[in-house]
Amino acid sequence: MEVFRKLFQTWGPQHWWPGRTRLEIIVGAILTQNTNWANVEKAITNLRRKRLLSLHALLTFPESTIAQAIRPAGYYNQKAKRLKAFASFLERTYGGSLRRMFSDTTPQLRQRLLSVPGIGPETADSILLYAGRRPVFVVDAYTRRVMQRHGWIRGNETYEDLAALCQQALPADVQLLNELHALLVRLGKTHCRTRPRCPGCPLEKLLPPDGPLM
Ligand code: SF4
Repeated sequence: MEVFRKLFQTWGPQHWWPGRTRLEIIVGAILTQNTNWANVEKAITNLRRKRLLSLHALLTFPESTIAQAIRPAGYYNQKAKRLKAFASFLERTYGGSLRRMFSDTTPQLRQRLLSVPGIGPETADSILLYAGRRPVFVVDAYTRRVMQRHGWIRGNETYEDLAALCQQALPADVQLLNELHALLVRLGKTHCRTRPRCPGCPLEKLLPPDGPLM
């Protein structure tokens, strides 16, 4: 919680996740794998312009058409396959209804999302938190790096270990978990980069006495 307080005091609300609809948030969560958000935005704009940003379009248009539209997001053939896999899953399991999908319990829905090809724990948790407004903590590479450098974890924990650890330490508050993930991403991009920039970092006072563990 102290991490959250320090980051929030420094940077305030981050207004995540950018997305007009729940489907758009889910599409963004899949497209953002291994790329930055600016590229995802270009891909989403293309999908919108070409009227491909609907469940019907994702189900019916050929994979190659979707791949061309999302080219700016990189790995576009693979990601087109993943978008179609999610659309088929939604249609098959919930009759195409996001409302029905999000009426599942969190553990049940998480398990089902993880069965979709190309949806791993980070993407599933992003979907649950940002599109489903479920109180889950999203672990990403930035979070792991910050925690390791401060000596809060060993560094070889699995995704599920880290998620459980953070989940226990934090309140089940959707808005707080939303902000915390966004703030940690900002921290990773501005200070806790491959080479840490500790002077002036909001978490500088929480460092071990000898500095970051590398
Ligand atoms: S103080 Fe240093 S190690 Fe800690 S989060 Fe900031 S940049 Fe990373």
